[in-house]
Amino acid sequence: MIRINSIYINGAFTAPHGTATFDLISPIDNTLQGILALGDEEDVNRAVAAAKAAFQTFSQTTVAQRIAFLQQMHDAISRRADELTNIMVQEYGGSILFCRNSTQNALNSIQTNIALLQQFEFTRKAGTATVRLEPVGVAGIITPWNASNSFICGKLSTAIAAGCTAVIKPSELSGRQTQLLLECLHEAGLPDGVFNVVNGLGNVVGAAITAHKDIAKISFTGSTITGKTIARGAVDTMKRITLELGGKSPNILLEDADLKTAIPMAIQAAYMNSGQACIAGTRLLVPASRIDEVKQLLKENMDIARVGNPAEEDTLIGPMVSQKQYERVQQYIQLGIEEGAELWIGGPGKPAHLEAGNFVKPTIFVNVTNDMRIAREEIFGPVLSVISYKDEEEAIAIANDTDYGLLAYVSSASDEHANHVAARIRAGRVLINGLKHDPMAPFGGFKQSGIGREYGVYGLEAYLEPKAILN
Ligand code: NDP
Repeated sequence: MIRINSIYINGAFTAPHGTATFDLISPIDNTLQGILALGDEEDVNRAVAAAKAAFQTFSQTTVAQRIAFLQQMHDAISRRADELTNIMVQEYGGSILFCRNSTQNALNSIQTNIALLQQFEFTRKAGTATVRLEPVGVAGIITPWNASNSFICGKLSTAIAAGCTAVIKPSELSGRQTQLLLECLHEAGLPDGVFNVVNGLGNVVGAAITAHKDIAKISFTGSTITGKTIARGAVDTMKRITLELGGKSPNILLEDADLKTAIPMAIQAAYMNSGQACIAGTRLLVPASRIDEVKQLLKENMDIARVGNPAEEDTLIGPMVSQKQYERVQQYIQLGIEEGAELWIGGPGKPAHLEAGNFVKPTIFVNVTNDMRIAREEIFGPVLSVISYKDEEEAIAIANDTDYGLLAYVSSASDEHANHVAARIRAGRVLINGLKHDPMAPFGGFKQSGIGREYGVYGLEAYLEPKAILN
């Protein structure tokens, strides 16, 4: 039995003041793997005090010093990359391919911030003024379970690049992953208090971070509903907020798309990270004239969507992170049936021989209309809704008819055609003919998918305050 009895404050592992604990249950077979000690408001106060004290000197560091710290962070994590990947597979149930990628994303985000610092202008001119971009203060970082360490590294490395210090609240579902990352970060030898980590419940530790007057900014990734709670709470102390929230991303297959490549990609886009991804392409928009072809190709390509032991190389879909998440996905599959969508592939229940874990059958509904809840709400599991459209105008209207606006996918034989459609989509990123990523490009949502952007220049500026000096 694994026992994680500490949190991390002011450069040291320390016992929390909080006395609550959380059971770490394997999503693969629902056995109890460990017990995590949880912090409370008092622990947040201690962590913020440490971060506030560290900010006095850390905010004055040079760019060269911060590059060196980021390099130390990168190297320490890099040395244990395989362990970080494996523990993510075991604890979270992500497929080994996804988890390897996630660890690499964590490392890339640090490298990207190093590259950015080498060219970023912290002093600029605006009219007659000199504008200094100064670190905003102590950052509160609140992260979810679906790529825990990658989110932490992305946010923390940006805070460090800016000269901010941080108090981090990871998801308690990621306790073992957090512990290993903390060992790496401890080894990296950053100054005491620059980062502090308090495991704990969202409505206790997360709420205390949101309310704390000495936290200047919150960077949050998670559900839209929690994002709204944080935004409401943050305004009392006028915190800056960056919110990366949910999505219901459209994947538009234009009339001229090559379906032989677009359909396997659509399956990957829908089921990436076992469907537990805010950027998953969960609404597949198909020209009505090609719907039969698409249905056939979806069936033919479903061997890609292999569900099973996440440690096996050819698994695409592992178990849902928790029993609760499994049940949530089951409720949506049932709802799709009740709403009158046609169940084309998959359906309720667990796949054969995978009854012990939180495994879901990869599911596809066809004849979905965009007013159905399965087309409007984030399911966060391997469930794809296929919606047909009459013409391109209707495709664009359906794509934009959503409360979300995080990402969209467009497939077309012509880049020009795809770009023309992309220009009319209300989303923070549009991926054309493939699952592409660039850590220098801004990431974030229109509408209820969030506020602000992460990554690259836009991400760094979100941790900085402009100060105009007029002589
Ligand atoms: P949440 O948004 O509730 O959790 C994300 C993080 O916020 C966790 O660390 C959580 O802590 C914390 N939190 C919860 N309540 C508060 C609060 N009042 N103040 C501050 N922090 C808080 O996501 P869930 O884990 O509950 O997942 C529910 C659904 O959210 C999923 O099914 C999915 O649809 C969506 N989701 C979206 C994600 C995305 O990347 N866009 C990521 C994760 C979930 P704690 O774990 O203790 O509750």
